[in-house]
Amino acid sequence: MTASPAFHAPAKKSLGQHFLHDRRTIDDIVLAVDPRPGEMLVEIGPGQGAITFPLLRRHGALTAIEFDRDLIAPLTEAARGIGALTILHRDVLAVDFTELAAGRQLRLVGNLPYNLSSPILFHALGHAAAITDMHFMLQKEVVDRMAAGPGSKVYGRLSVMLQAYCEVTPLLVVPPGAFRPPPKVDSAVVRMVPKDPARIGVRDPGRLQAVVRAAFGQRRKTLRNALSGVCTTEMIEAAGIGPDARAEQVQVADFITLANLPWGDPVQQP
Ligand code: SAM
Repeated sequence: MTASPAFHAPAKKSLGQHFLHDRRTIDDIVLAVDPRPGEMLVEIGPGQGAITFPLLRRHGALTAIEFDRDLIAPLTEAARGIGALTILHRDVLAVDFTELAAGRQLRLVGNLPYNLSSPILFHALGHAAAITDMHFMLQKEVVDRMAAGPGSKVYGRLSVMLQAYCEVTPLLVVPPGAFRPPPKVDSAVVRMVPKDPARIGVRDPGRLQAVVRAAFGQRRKTLRNALSGVCTTEMIEAAGIGPDARAEQVQVADFITLANLPWGDPVQQP
């Protein structure tokens, strides 16, 4: 079933605008978020308000971050009488979520512009301590990579670097016809819940990134070879990893153990 937007605006390709209109998908997203009284909801890229207004009706208040100047006035107008919509006319990558939270915890929601999805994910993770959870619509192929485990062909850097810091749960697959204009690929909604910072156990995020980048940069090679410019075979063994394993066979926790070992020299970027 189709949901009518609160207003119409021509979609801008450069801003990744694919407006959601499928009522069932919208309802499923609101159900998945299931906002509770007192929570601070923040939507990234409200567009024509497909998710914004159902959430606002249910929750009464919402902060939305939108880069497209042409959408600010119609969104403001459409929110009248529905609830307290605070719109930040900003590039989301320039928004300091920790500052926005001002001591509270944020719940992030968004049908993200697909060209910016990875930068937005990592930007949000940089503020993980201020975020309770995130519900994002992304390309299905990206969600598959985010949630993949060892042994999967799509298990890679994105999987390890996200799963090191949060629980990643794919929730629903959304076909192109749910959007106007339709994207070329399937989409999916994913839930990300940041792990308790005290239990993540990554001593040096830069080191983890360097190890994972080198390991998956040459994913067909054994770790002994792929990591030869980064660490010794003895270190791989000390982390409990077989040096003849390939990156796609190594658990996230084992990458963290390897990156946490005492390293003598400054890390060499591959
Ligand atoms: N939420 C709406 C929906 O589901 O129909 C629109 C989703 S559309 C895929 C992505 C939205 O993100 C657009 O409204 C677009 O203008 C906005 N956007 C694109 N780049 C942005 C940026 N850097 N910062 C904030 N919003 C951005």
